[in-house]
Amino acid sequence: MGLISAEEYKASLDDGRIVYYKGEKIKNVVRDPNLGVCVDVMAIDYEMAANPKYRDLAVVEDPENGEPISRYYYKPQNADDLLKAHELIVKATELGSGYIPLAHDIGADALNAINITANMIGNQDYIDRIDNYRKELQQKDLATCAGVTCVKGDRMLRPSDPGQAHPDSYVRVVDKNDKGIIVRGAKMHITGAAYCNDIFVIPCRAMSEADKDYAVAFAIPVNTKGLTQVCRPFTSHISDLEFPNTNPVRVHTDSVIIFDDVLVPWERVFMCGEWKYAAPLVYNFALMHRRTGCAYRIPLSEQFLGAASAIAEYNGILDAPHVKEKLTDLIIYLETLKSLSKTACYDFVMRSGVAVPNPIATNMAKYHFAHNYHEVVKTVQDLAGGIVVTAPTYKDYQHPELHDYLEKYLQGDKNVPTENRLRMIDLIRRITRAELETICLHGEGSPMAERMTIFMEGREVLKECQIIVEEMAQVKR
Ligand SMILES: Cc1cc2nc3c(=O)[nH]c(=O)nc-3n(C[C@H](O)[C@H](O)[C@H](O)COP(=O)(O)OP(=O)(O)OC[C@H]3O[C@@H](n4cnc5c(N)ncnc54)[C@H](O)[C@@H]3O)c2cc1C
Repeated sequence: MGLISAEEYKASLDDGRIVYYKGEKIKNVVRDPNLGVCVDVMAIDYEMAANPKYRDLAVVEDPENGEPISRYYYKPQNADDLLKAHELIVKATELGSGYIPLAHDIGADALNAINITANMIGNQDYIDRIDNYRKELQQKDLATCAGVTCVKGDRMLRPSDPGQAHPDSYVRVVDKNDKGIIVRGAKMHITGAAYCNDIFVIPCRAMSEADKDYAVAFAIPVNTKGLTQVCRPFTSHISDLEFPNTNPVRVHTDSVIIFDDVLVPWERVFMCGEWKYAAPLVYNFALMHRRTGCAYRIPLSEQFLGAASAIAEYNGILDAPHVKEKLTDLIIYLETLKSLSKTACYDFVMRSGVAVPNPIATNMAKYHFAHNYHEVVKTVQDLAGGIVVTAPTYKDYQHPELHDYLEKYLQGDKNVPTENRLRMIDLIRRITRAELETICLHGEGSPMAERMTIFMEGREVLKECQIIVEEMAQVKR
């Protein structure tokens, strides 16, 4: 089959999955007025593959039989493959007005990380299982997500530490039988899980021998018995207090996923007890997913720059020296992100037959993005002024007794209609909202995780530089 349509993807979600939203059990996520909005975002991936304009980017030929398959599930072999995947995610996020569709990209990062780790372990069953699963994903074009982050309990304690409130703070194997393994525990923050087909589950940290039951990786359909999801609340519609906008609202939700003694068949188990390989698995996932995450943030960074420039013009301050400096900072922010993301692809490394983005460049790109994000938001809010939080609503603006006053007094530059200024303020309020701040900081890993990786990967460079200066100083060892 190879590729499915957006309609086929939507029809596949009516499968008895257990999903709660705001205290209600949702019968059908597609027909739900809130979750249906998220489903439409995911469907963009399928629409892109069907659209001749994006087909070259979104679709590749299966190397084995020449059939069209999603680029996401194709195993990257070189810099060009990585760059094309990067461009695909940037374009998809643009079409999602800053929200990545997510039907395949996070799952693909987990798929490739498991592929590498199975080869590192050297277990032929695992290698065959992940290869077979890749083929199935390619043929059925399933939407996948990645359950990495466990609920974790006390962060300073290991998963198996008796000091944890209970032994299930990290997903673990509680039993095995001839059919498969039984898993218990909970993952948290899992984006898109409520409206994808299958979920990858991998550990979220390094494990010790005592933690070997927690060193488990697998993939299962989200309607598997014993799996329950609770979605976080989100705003799915533009309120009638805001200026009307015919662009569809784009948003995702993230789930707490409870695994209540779930049976995972052996053919979908990719790690079970090989505790030494939990760290390489999560490391490789994080590496690939941070590169993916940087691609998500490029369109958002472009929105910040555009909004800052527009509102500076509407407020009449575009030529002020400090404004030019602030806009320069935003250009540097955006272009640094773009350059580091591309460098990560050009300067790739091969791991077990998979082209992987450069570890230092990738982590620097993600760290640069997250670390400076709040500064960028501050700049946009600074240039916009306090009106971002104090502007009257669209209903006030429309009111016959208020309209002319507001039209007169809320104008900035005389060449810009007041309504344009107020519309831009609405947009700035939406793109600088607190929810996005947390996503940008913690999504793909906290800033400390990126710094630790940069230090670890940078040790070679550090050693080489030390040798150079020791030679200069004629230090004898
Ligand atoms: C919107 C959103 C979407 C996400 N989507 C996904 C997804 O699809 N799949 C997925 O698997 N995950 C997802 N995540 C999870 C994301 O990767 C985590 O938020 C991130 O790894 C941080 O983990 P945490 O939120 O549990 O924070 P915590 O681990 O609670 O971290 C909080 C603070 O504690 C510090 N800390 C934690 N542990 C230690 C320690 N042992 N020692 C010292 N300091 C410590 C951290 O550095 C940080 O400063 C998403 C997150 C967000 C916000």
